[in-house]
Amino acid sequence: MTHVFAPPRQPSLPIKGSAQLFPIHRIYCVGRNYAEHAREMGSDPDREPPFFFQKNADNVLTSGELPYPPQTSDLHFEIELVVALKSGGASIKAADALSHVYGYAVGLDMTRRDLQNAAKKTGRPWEVGKAFERSAPCTPIVPASAIGHPNAGAIWIDVNGERRQTGDLKQMIWDIPHQIEFLSGLFELAAGDLIFTGTPAGVGSTKRGDRLKGHVDGVGDLDVVVV
Ligand code: MN
Repeated sequence: MTHVFAPPRQPSLPIKGSAQLFPIHRIYCVGRNYAEHAREMGSDPDREPPFFFQKNADNVLTSGELPYPPQTSDLHFEIELVVALKSGGASIKAADALSHVYGYAVGLDMTRRDLQNAAKKTGRPWEVGKAFERSAPCTPIVPASAIGHPNAGAIWIDVNGERRQTGDLKQMIWDIPHQIEFLSGLFELAAGDLIFTGTPAGVGSTKRGDRLKGHVDGVGDLDVVVV
């Protein structure tokens, strides 16, 4: 059987040190996973279980230029550690979770904050604020076989040379094994899934011409210009 039109291109990420590509299945994102960021968003980090939203696999951006998206005047950066799965399943226990991880990357959860805030006020879904074209800039994936499984280390972003967000991976409220445990209780995780693991405090607005340079210790550096 053939398709009625050409199937869409498989979204994928480069892998550092490899000629092979990592094919993306789904993109999950964890909300408010660093206490100081939860507070700046107006919630109490000590009382809430993790919650999740999704972006689309084809929202990933691998080049250095991020076109300013339509319908917003408040485009925010959120620097995040990204987990890339090589296998999955349902009801994964935290103790087994890291055996499903292929590697890690540095990503941006770009957010149309004005549209997200309007959705929050009216109880509407977040996709218009979160899951738009090129809303997930991401570095190549570094395999865990090369770097291990980072659970501490600096995460930061500079905008035009000025430090705007800074934190440490160990400040995550829910660590990566527990994120995978929670997520796999809600969804069947699969090879190719990416998890954006939340952002530290200091999120802010960006405009055309800004240069965003993000970093996670031991994982990589992201370099994006908003155009
Ligand atoms: Mn985020």
